[in-house]
Amino acid sequence: MVALIKRFTRNGVPLRMLILGAPGAGKGTQSSRIRNHFAVTTISSGDVLRRNILEQTPAGQQAQVSVARGELVPDNLIVSLIRNELETIQNNNWLLDGFPRNLAQAQALDQMLLATDQPLNAVVNLNVPEHVILNRIIERYVHVPSGRVYNLTYNPPKVPGVDDITGEPLEHRPDDNPESFKRRLQQYHALTEPLLEYYRKAGVLASFAGDTSDIIFPQLKEFLDERFD
Ligand code: AMP
Repeated sequence: MVALIKRFTRNGVPLRMLILGAPGAGKGTQSSRIRNHFAVTTISSGDVLRRNILEQTPAGQQAQVSVARGELVPDNLIVSLIRNELETIQNNNWLLDGFPRNLAQAQALDQMLLATDQPLNAVVNLNVPEHVILNRIIERYVHVPSGRVYNLTYNPPKVPGVDDITGEPLEHRPDDNPESFKRRLQQYHALTEPLLEYYRKAGVLASFAGDTSDIIFPQLKEFLDERFD
C-alpha cells in the first residue's frame, strides 16, 4: 500500500499546495482523499482552531466565539497557528485547507514561504453550486479530534453518530447552521474569492467544478498525477 503512495519528487520539487473553495465545497473531503493517494501532510485551519478550542488553549479561547458565529478569527492568530504547524510537520509535501482566507493572510503566507524559498506551486479551487453546498452543510458531521468529515447521504459513518476509526462521537459543527452559514458564505465572496485572481496572476491556480466530491476528485487526481507523479 505504502509503495503506491506518490512521493511528489518530479523535478525534485515537493508539493506546496492550497485548496480553496466556499464553505462546504468539500475542501476537507478532497484533502483526505488526496492524503490517501499521495504522501502529503494536510493542514486544515478550521481543524487546527477546533482542536485548540477543544483543548481550551489560549488561542482556542480567543477564537471560540468568532468560530461559533462563523466569523473569521484575527489574522495574526491564525497566521501564527499555521506558521507553527508548517514548522512542526515532518514533510516537505503539504496542503493547506482553509488558509489563507483573505489577502492579508495570503501575503503573510507568501512572506513566510519566501523566507525559505519555498513558494506555492499549486492552488486548487473547488467550484460547487451554492444550493448543493447548503444541503451538504445541514448533513455534515465531524469527528473533531481528527477532522474526519461525514455526510449523512454521501459518506455516512458505518455506525450512526460515531467515528469509523475511533468509535468516538461525531458532532454537528456549531457553525453549520443556516445563519452562520450565510455569514460564512458572504465572507467567502467578499474576502476569499478575490484570492482566486491573486493566484491566477501568480500562475498557480487550477479550478475544478462539479456537484459532488466524486465528480471533482478524479479531475483533481489527474491534475496532481500529471504534475507530481
Ligand atoms: P472551516 O473549517 O475552514 O470552515 O473553518 C471554520 C471556522 O474557523 C471559520 O468559519 C472561521 O471562524 C475560522 N477560520 C478557519 N480558517 C480561518 C482563517 N484562515 N482565517 C480566519 N478564520 C478562520
